[in-house]
Order: sequence, then C-alpha cells, then structure tokens
Amino acid sequence: MSETAVIVGAGQAGGRTAQALRRQGWQGRILLLGAEPEAPYERPPLSKEVLAEGADPLKAALFKPGQLEELGIELETGLTVEALEVGARRLTCAGGRHVKWDRLVLATGARPRRLACPGAELPGVHLLRSAADARALAPELTEGRELLLVGGGFIGLEVAASARRRGCRVTVVEAAPHLIGRALGPKVSRHLRQLHIERGVHIRLSGQVAAFEGRDRLEGVVLADGTRMAAEVAVVGIGCTAEDGLARAAGLDCDDGILTDAFAATSAPGVWAVGDCTRHENVWLGRRVRLESWENAELAPQIAAKAICGKPEPYSVVPWFWTDQYELNLQLLGLTAFEGELVWRGTPLAGPAIAFEIEHGLLRGAALFDAGRERRPLRQLIEQRVRVRADSLADPAVSLRDLAKASA
Ligand SMILES: Cc1cc2nc3c(=O)[nH]c(=O)nc-3n(C[C@H](O)[C@H](O)[C@H](O)COP(=O)(O)OP(=O)(O)OC[C@H]3O[C@@H](n4cnc5c(N)ncnc54)[C@H](O)[C@@H]3O)c2cc1C
Repeated sequence: MSETAVIVGAGQAGGRTAQALRRQGWQGRILLLGAEPEAPYERPPLSKEVLAEGADPLKAALFKPGQLEELGIELETGLTVEALEVGARRLTCAGGRHVKWDRLVLATGARPRRLACPGAELPGVHLLRSAADARALAPELTEGRELLLVGGGFIGLEVAASARRRGCRVTVVEAAPHLIGRALGPKVSRHLRQLHIERGVHIRLSGQVAAFEGRDRLEGVVLADGTRMAAEVAVVGIGCTAEDGLARAAGLDCDDGILTDAFAATSAPGVWAVGDCTRHENVWLGRRVRLESWENAELAPQIAAKAICGKPEPYSVVPWFWTDQYELNLQLLGLTAFEGELVWRGTPLAGPAIAFEIEHGLLRGAALFDAGRERRPLRQLIEQRVRVRADSLADPAVSLRDLAKASA
C-alpha cells in the first residue's frame, strides 16, 4: 500500500514541502493540513504592496490554479492539528478526527508576540502575520490617521513606510536604543532611521508602551515613563515565537523552535520540520539557528523532501534576508549584527551602497543598500570565507564579481 506524507501547516514552508516531495519523486499520498482558510501564500507582500497599494494579500499564492490537482496534493484548509502521537504515527485534528502518517513534516511557522499590557485587545490594535490580519489593517490606514508602531523591527518599519505612502501620520516606538534590534547594529540601522525621519516618521527610541487607552477603540498609548501619545491605529511588531507547541507536547526536542539536524530531521523518527517553527542546523554557520525568512521557508523544504526521498543533502547556506521600505531595497547576507569592523562602499541613501563586516581579514557579512545586483558574488565571497582586503571592498572600481571569480 502506498505511504502517506502529511504536512502540518499550509504556509510557505508547508506548501513548498508538498511541491518538493513530488519533485523529488514521492509516489505516495501527500496531505497538506493548514489552520488558515487560504491555500498557501507568501507573506512578504502583506506589509508592503498590500498595505501601500491595496494589493491582493494572496497575490503571491504558492499554487497556480489546478496545480494541486496536477501534483496530487490533498490540501485541507481551516483545519488545526491539535495533537501528535509519534509512536502511533497519528495526528488528532480539531473536532477529534484522526489522521495517520508514514512521514510527517511540521511546518507550523511562528506567531507574533502580543504586548501583555492594558488595552492590548482594544479595536484598532493590530498584529500582522496573516492575510486576514492584512485585510483588517489595510482599510485602517487612511490619509491623516495617527498610526503607532510598537517595535522598530523589520515588520514595524515596513508598515511605517507603507502607511506613509497612504498619508498616515506615523510614530515608531522602539524599546531598544536603536532600530532593528539585534539583527542590524546601530552603525547600519542609523541609515534606516535617517530614511524614516526624512519621510516624516516620528521615531521614539528607548521607549516602551505600557498601556493602550481608549473607550470603545484605541485613542492613545501611555509609555512606561508616563508620556501620552495619540494613536488611532497601532500595530504591534515585537517579534515572533516559534509555533512549536504541537512538537513539544509530543516530546520532540525543542528550544525556542523545533530542533532539527542539517537534514531537517527532528528528534522523532519519521518526523521532519521546516521553516519558521524550527531551530535548524546550518552547516555553513556551524550551529543551529532560528530564522524567520522567506529564503529559509524555500530552502528547508527542499532539504526535507530530499531526505524523505532518500537523497539526503545537508542545509548549508549563507543566510540571506531582504526588506523593502519606500524605494529602498536592503538585503542582508551572513547573519551578522554589523557590530564589528565595517567597511563601506558608497553612501547609503545616496545611491547603491554596501556595508561589509570583516573579521580577521574574512568577510563575515554584508548589508546591501539598493545593491542587490552584487548579492551573488558577495554571497560567494562570504560562503567561501575568502580573505579580502578592506581597500578592495571599499573601492567601487574593484569588481566584486572579479573578486569572486578569482576566489572560485
Ligand atoms: C508581514 C510579513 C512580511 C515579511 N517580509 C519578509 C521579507 O521581506 N523578507 C523575508 O525574507 N521574510 C519576510 N517575512 C518572513 C517570511 O514570510 C516567513 O519567514 C515565512 O512565511 C515562514 O514560512 P512558514 O511556512 O515557516 O511559516 P508560516 O508562513 O507562518 O506558515 C505556518 C502555517 O502553519 C499553520 N499552522 C500552525 N500551527 C498549525 C496547526 N497546529 N495545525 C494546522 N496548521 C497550523 C499556520 O496557520 C500557518 O498558516 C515576512 C513575514 C511577514 C509576516
């Protein structure tokens, strides 16, 4: 009898796993179970085009019409899996239905952290993770409205940029002394701060929202130091928590994310995990890492599908992330906080520019401001841990492609 691969979580990583299993030759059933009502879609547009231009939240759907049938993938949406039994190879869904599996892939993603303070449930206070969240938020961002972003991370700043394009008055309150927290040290993030200030965003650093206030809906916030600020709409963007509860309850090893090896295998036989819900081994990094990134949700499914289909290949890649704010495209390579020695090529916000982080003569990471065309050679230089000269990196006349070619 043919075997069944079940995927829990029909987001980007879940959908890609289903596609990759077929591509790698999985002959059995593929069952893709997801709690959201929609078929899998990519989330990056939600904070960008969807808010700024009113684009369809499902514009980046993973499956073309007819593709699920073509690939023989059985998708069930609006279905939450509530329990996992590893020994019995069985899932229990909401409503009590049981589903048996021969191979299981967990792709349960992450959930946004809520602010545990008075008024956090008031109408007008939003989170942004899903198409439903974006549909609720988009109509609130009207001209002249007072929007407050709690958290100056990537999501908060992308929403700030989109809301400015809609004519909102925008304030960002960030608890840390600089924007983007740990992902981007102050030497690089100050340029983002400058960009937002130039675009009319009011930024309050080292500030903490202590309460949301309002009678029937949000009217303002109170900061921990007693400052009161007007706000008609707020978006809480203070990071996400890995959705690893199902795995933890089933006894799988977890540590702020489901622990996986370089082949996406969990501690339980026959169970793999991919995407935001994992803390996965990346051979290039030489350690486990929890990433919330589009690329990880693309790559990890390929690794899991190959392992399931008997063609194991380890996950080994220089992490890459991008963000779009106003016209700026910022790309980050290498998972570094840019707190060490930095070399700049070009001036950010005045044209293409790159910040390189160098450690002991090796290129550890790069932040590319409108310089995406250099991503490929830079990735190669970082990946191969090539020794580079700071003056070559700083000199725009030196081709990064040539440096990468010379190192190949
Ligand atoms: C607004 C926004 C903008 C972003 N922009 C960027 C960007 O510019 N660049 C970038 O690199 N990354 C970006 N990201 C991150 C990227 O979208 C995520 O890393 C990616 O979506 C992770 O995919 P995933 O499948 O692991 O998780 P998700 O997409 O969260 O999917 C998980 C799915 O599992 C379902 N689920 C969870 N538990 C269960 C259960 N028990 N039973 C059934 N279903 C369940 C959830 O409902 C969800 O549908 C952005 C994310 C957001 C929210």
